Amino acid sequence: MELDPSALDLPEFAAGSVWLVGAGPGAPGLLSLLALHALQNADIVIYDALVDQRILGLARPGAVLDYAGKRGGKPSPQQPDITLRLIRAAREGKRVLRLKGGDPFVFGRGGEEALALRAAGIPIRIVPGITAGIGGLAYAGIPVTHRDTNSAVVFVTGQASGGALPDGIDWQALARAAPVVVIYMALKHLDVIAQRLLAAGRAADEPVAIISKATLPGQRVLRTSLARAAADATAAAFEPPAIVVVGAVVKLGDVIGPAP
Ligand code: SAH
Repeated sequence: MELDPSALDLPEFAAGSVWLVGAGPGAPGLLSLLALHALQNADIVIYDALVDQRILGLARPGAVLDYAGKRGGKPSPQQPDITLRLIRAAREGKRVLRLKGGDPFVFGRGGEEALALRAAGIPIRIVPGITAGIGGLAYAGIPVTHRDTNSAVVFVTGQASGGALPDGIDWQALARAAPVVVIYMALKHLDVIAQRLLAAGRAADEPVAIISKATLPGQRVLRTSLARAAADATAAAFEPPAIVVVGAVVKLGDVIGPAP
């Protein structure tokens, strides 16, 4: 697809700058035009594990594709290494595209990278993407808000950088804060998370949906309840990446239905 940047008022991707771009939850059709423009102009694309190969295929021929995530059980590069790579490439005068799954500022360390690049004096641009906790739900037919069910939603991550359940989450307060709770990286500690929500007063039969590989060809949706969620996810062999949503909006997904 050829873009006409001047007709669309797209900013120029300047040499020596870094663009931190969200690629969306997976399906290439959910890329923004600005993300496509970045792919078509980048000299180097430093991408994460959750970025789909079909999206990388949109990169300018000759662009260097540099993987920065975990692969095959090998440890992931340390965050400072990735940041240094970004700074080095920008100082070499390259157009550096840092491509992340979903939105770069939602549980994706985009903030850390942006701060480090600013501190190094590198020009940056942030390009938001469709986050899995909204777009992934939509592909399962689940509206993240709905007038009859919730005027608020809480987004929470089920894993800290070391893999443990994050400390410092007040589950009592979180459970009461909004009728809908959307949990990223939830599978590993789903049993504990569900117990915390139940202990905080959420109902055992509250509807839960688990959406794995949302928007991708392997998308799977599991409907369950808060009490059964962890056991059902294990029994159905649900795998990451998966997003978990707790709340009455899950029922609407039965009527609206998944994306065809
Ligand atoms: N920045 C990303 C989130 C990064 S954290 C965003 O805005 O979406 C990684 C977590 O995101 C995964 O563990 C999973 O919970 C969720 N996720 C990302 N892509 C997903 C997908 N295609 N399907 C389901 N969950 C996804």
